[in-house]
Amino acid sequence: MVILMDRLDTPSGQRAVARCTELGRAPYSDMEGGLFRPYLGPSYRATCERLAQWMEQAGMATRMDAAGNLVGRYEGLVPDAPAVLLGSHIDSVRDGGFYDGMLGVILGIETVAHFAHAGKRFPFALEVIGFGDEEGSRFPTGMLTSHAVAGVPQDPDPAMADWAGEATLASALAEFGLDAGHMHRAARRRDGILAYVEAHIEQGPALEAADRALGVVSAIAAQQRYRITLRGMAGHAGTVAMALRRDALAGAADIILAAERIGRAGTDGLVATVGSLDVVPGAANVVPGEVVLSLDVRAGSNAGRDQAVADILQAARHTCAQRGLEMDITLQQDLDATPCDGRLTELMEQAVGSVTGAPAPVLVSGAGHDAMIMAHLAPVSMLFIRCAGGISHNPAESVTPADTDAAFRALITFIGLLERHSG
Ligand SMILES: [Zn+2]
Repeated sequence: MVILMDRLDTPSGQRAVARCTELGRAPYSDMEGGLFRPYLGPSYRATCERLAQWMEQAGMATRMDAAGNLVGRYEGLVPDAPAVLLGSHIDSVRDGGFYDGMLGVILGIETVAHFAHAGKRFPFALEVIGFGDEEGSRFPTGMLTSHAVAGVPQDPDPAMADWAGEATLASALAEFGLDAGHMHRAARRRDGILAYVEAHIEQGPALEAADRALGVVSAIAAQQRYRITLRGMAGHAGTVAMALRRDALAGAADIILAAERIGRAGTDGLVATVGSLDVVPGAANVVPGEVVLSLDVRAGSNAGRDQAVADILQAARHTCAQRGLEMDITLQQDLDATPCDGRLTELMEQAVGSVTGAPAPVLVSGAGHDAMIMAHLAPVSMLFIRCAGGISHNPAESVTPADTDAAFRALITFIGLLERHSG
């Protein structure tokens, strides 16, 4: 690591923040007065061009792959060596922040720039990848382009229209000279990728609460989402006596509180949320006869999530029995936990520890990331960066140059450790 020390005072964190900020407005945004960078839009093209300039300045050869992802490559000691991929996503939600996704791409470029400046080559190549569609903010998709790279079939419909109804996936790709029928050609060979490493803002308040700049992700949460319908009996709010009521909304209230209680008592990143409630008929003078509520449960392991779901649904059945309600439960989404690679996670913990001088906090990511798709292709590791107030998907998203610089130093330390351990 000695060769790296003379570069540790470079203001890479400051430059990374400045670059994310530069990309937060026109022509890198399709929205007046805010950031909206949908997959394959005009701002997407401008952003890829700017990122490619920075990649080339950093010593990389650039290309756009068959799914519209931007890829920069810095060769290793021998040509065609397998690559360590550093990256995240280029697209943003509507009126999003500057750092969600983009910070991981820019930090990848800073990492390669550091080694290229030092003339350092590795037994592996370094690549930076900016994924085109993670957020699903243009087409009704999500992580479309990491599915393509990981070779995980998703079979998107080329005729699907974007939210504006102005283009299809096929026509949007064609504008970039790409063919929807060839997206699968973005798939990488398993023996060509040593690891995928994603730095990302935390999107939660845990690091800030712990007064720590960086955290290491142990797993991306297992998630299940349910739609629960409760049926009681609607009636006149003035004439139906309390003892005779079958109030579906009061039952829903019991279930909401049970979900909160069970979520609070959990460990390993367990969170349980009722975020939506439809009350029928929804009038001030009618006892609610039917309620539809959502239930979203996430945890660091499938087992932890499944136990919490079982406990919440048991409490819900108990409530229904007590209150004379009927209940229908529909499972709407079911995602397994994605554990990050154990060995890479240890190296990332070491890297964070040596940079920050304290043991690395280890977190479960409650939000999904491209890393969960890339885990089908290669071992993955994720580094979280503290963001102010845990706020994301919001223009108020914010990171400090000092934290970003710590992330940069953790990444270069991690790459050095990887070299040492890749024998
Ligand atoms: Zn993101």
